[in-house]
Amino acid sequence: MGLLEQKRHFSVNLLDWYMVNRRDLPWRRHNNPYFTWVSEIMLQQTRVDTVIPYFNRFIGNFPTVQALAEAPEEEVLKNWEGLGYYSRARNLQAAARQVMELHGGEMPQDKQAVFALKGVGPYTAGAILSIAFNQSQPAVDGNVMRVLSRYFLIDEDIMKGSTRVLMEELAGELIPEGRARDFNQALMELGALVCTPKAPHCLTCPVMEHCSGRIAGRELTLPVKTKAKPPRPEQRLVAIVEGRGAHRGRVLVRQRPATGLLARMWELPHVLAAPAAAGKAAGPLADEPAMALLAGSLWAEGFAARPEGLATHAEHVFSHIVWSLQVYKCTEQDQSNELPLIAAEARAAYDAQASAKEITAPAQASEPGITDAANILGSLDEQGEPLSVFAASSSAHDVATGKGDGLTYRWIGPEDMDKMAFPNIFLKLITSYFAGSYEQQSEELN
Ligand code: SF4
Repeated sequence: MGLLEQKRHFSVNLLDWYMVNRRDLPWRRHNNPYFTWVSEIMLQQTRVDTVIPYFNRFIGNFPTVQALAEAPEEEVLKNWEGLGYYSRARNLQAAARQVMELHGGEMPQDKQAVFALKGVGPYTAGAILSIAFNQSQPAVDGNVMRVLSRYFLIDEDIMKGSTRVLMEELAGELIPEGRARDFNQALMELGALVCTPKAPHCLTCPVMEHCSGRIAGRELTLPVKTKAKPPRPEQRLVAIVEGRGAHRGRVLVRQRPATGLLARMWELPHVLAAPAAAGKAAGPLADEPAMALLAGSLWAEGFAARPEGLATHAEHVFSHIVWSLQVYKCTEQDQSNELPLIAAEARAAYDAQASAKEITAPAQASEPGITDAANILGSLDEQGEPLSVFAASSSAHDVATGKGDGLTYRWIGPEDMDKMAFPNIFLKLITSYFAGSYEQQSEELN
């Protein structure tokens, strides 16, 4: 069979299959460019089943481009909470504002204009233009490249830009006249349901008859993909600081800096205990130096708190970092003469740990605005006094900023969880704390 015939077979059979087997998804029920756009952004790196409830809630709260553009950012992040990759939500809102300012609130239909929207890359632009406006534009992501690599037996590395260009040309040629909307969704559907990464269902595949990869027995070895760099492990110490007096029943949280990882989201105070030495994981810190370090770091951030013991362990995987978290319950203390001593102990304990385990202190903070162990300890003078200390307000729950890094701290109760946006890992930790589930764990761990 010639290549032309193989392509025709693919397009015709795939489209026929899709018209019978297409899933009923909320964003497919209306031909609304805004819905297509939101769904495509949510679906990046996230499974359809996970996205459906988020999509319904998001559209319920922000039904139009205008509603999204005008919403407070915190509300948008709150609606995204749990989906991860929060820069997608921020970019989506920034792009909604672009659509309001530049296009009168109507999604543009011009390729360059769509491509110019914040957070919209070639795949998303192609998906919006084809699905919402039935324009003959390819929408090529990892799933589509997998299907095409297998069907046409393409041995090129799909991590290369040149391979993407080749795939986009090929995908564009496969779109039947006037059927871009259905065809592109059919291709995505085949990648999601049939030509899956680890176990493709070739026997029920609508294009199996002329699939070169299957015929050559290569369906499991394609696509060719160079391995991404493994994420960098980091050991972090986290404080659940329980308030006393006016803060009783509340815990201390801080807002992350306006730029960088998880920008402007709320979290429990935490500190980088040690980055991994080359080629090996950092490993957990013993409790005693960990607690001393945590007390020192809280002190350097302007809070007097005493770690009481390990509450739990947790892990969170980002695309480029893995956080291993040691979570300690701490209690708020009055500012007292004792605390500088705790801070001084922290430095000594950390130094001892560093020489015993060959921990390499980072040359600079790994995140903008957030201090790490080396910087915190560096900020303590010989008596263990932080360079800049402010006293936490004894009455207000809003605490102001600490240490001149522009960070904001608050004491929060369970009722605040609905209003503030937390990254997944902190949402779980704080929710578990308020549900009382650390009591038993810490007894077992300590
Ligand atoms: S026959 Fe198998 S490898 Fe080929 S496209 Fe279908 S599922 Fe993928």
